[in-house]
Amino acid sequence: MEHEPLLMIPGPVPIPQRVRAAMTRQAINHRGPEFGAAYADTVRTLKTLFGTAHDLYIISGSGSAGMEAAVANFARDRRIVSLVNGKFGERFAKIGERYGMVALLESEWGTPLDLAGLERELEAGAEIVTMVHNETSAGIKNPAPEVAKLARKHDALFIMDGVTSIGGDDVRMDEWGVDIAVVGSQKCLAAPAGLAAIAVGDRAWDRICEKRPFYLDMAAYRKSGSGTPMETPYTPAVPLFLALQEACTIIEEEGIPARIARHRRMADAVRAAAKGWGVDLFPTLDARHAYSNTATALRIPAGVTDKDLRGTVKKFGIEIAGGQDRLKGRIFRIGTMGGIGAQEILATLTAVEFALKKSGFDAGAGVEAAAEVLLG
Ligand SMILES: *Cc1c(COP(=O)(O)O)cnc(C)c1O
Repeated sequence: MEHEPLLMIPGPVPIPQRVRAAMTRQAINHRGPEFGAAYADTVRTLKTLFGTAHDLYIISGSGSAGMEAAVANFARDRRIVSLVNGKFGERFAKIGERYGMVALLESEWGTPLDLAGLERELEAGAEIVTMVHNETSAGIKNPAPEVAKLARKHDALFIMDGVTSIGGDDVRMDEWGVDIAVVGSQKCLAAPAGLAAIAVGDRAWDRICEKRPFYLDMAAYRKSGSGTPMETPYTPAVPLFLALQEACTIIEEEGIPARIARHRRMADAVRAAAKGWGVDLFPTLDARHAYSNTATALRIPAGVTDKDLRGTVKKFGIEIAGGQDRLKGRIFRIGTMGGIGAQEILATLTAVEFALKKSGFDAGAGVEAAAEVLLG
């Protein structure tokens, strides 16, 4: 029997059969009531996951398209302060540089953000703040409520990348005061890659830029999305929309609080395994800072190579992720997003424990520690 590889990377994640089946349907008219209803239904669930009552639209494009749409429509020719502590924060800053004037506040990857620096830049007149909520490259969760508060205090707009937090961790866009937030389909939503959703609050609409992109014009998305049936400006990736709708149905069936609790438990299990093995987590954080609940970054112990570690794990049909850019060869990452449960976690951790030992590392009882967490 041929087994599918188990993807335990921080996206894309395994796609439930029902979601895959939704993609194989005959074509439908994207200007018709059936598509409009599917779009509206998906938007309804996504708004709950974002914690917003504001407008939300779905873009045909990956998470980065959502990040670019946010910056290109709301930050053009404006003073942006970009908080960076990993690869995706860096990407947000690079997008900012294409459209506006960026003040970069970079901390060591995986270390807490420079909030004092942020306050200084805001006092000096920054109009836009960009931040990645869950920095997937480093396994750290950044303090969205605090950053939102500072942005509000200085009347700046806060654009948040929620690509790997929304749908897997607690996000309260409106309560926190986030002006624009973005998610990608292939992460915690467990849908196929290729869609981004962007939510836009009233303060942001009031300040939408005069000069906007054509394909990603958010005013056009708003216009097409405000009628019945709900539409997109141009032909959307219809099969992906239908798949995302089914993924949202599965999310509703599980219940959002239960889903978030499950993501937390899975990440807790991985962290317990790390402790049991004697492997350090990559970020070194005190109690005031938070580890990611959707992707865990671990340091590769001395004497073990990335190639051997991930190569051995892959021999069992399981894929975990390495480090990106400057973290390549130094860390490995285990994604626990989407529909991942105890079965997948135990299989993955068993393979990692074996691989560590095979490379000569004297790993402690990590699987056992994780199993205790999973039992609850
Ligand atoms: C995956 C990811 C993105 C988007 O990447 P795409 O490849 O464009 O989907 C953005 N931000 C974070 C934090 C991510 O993990």
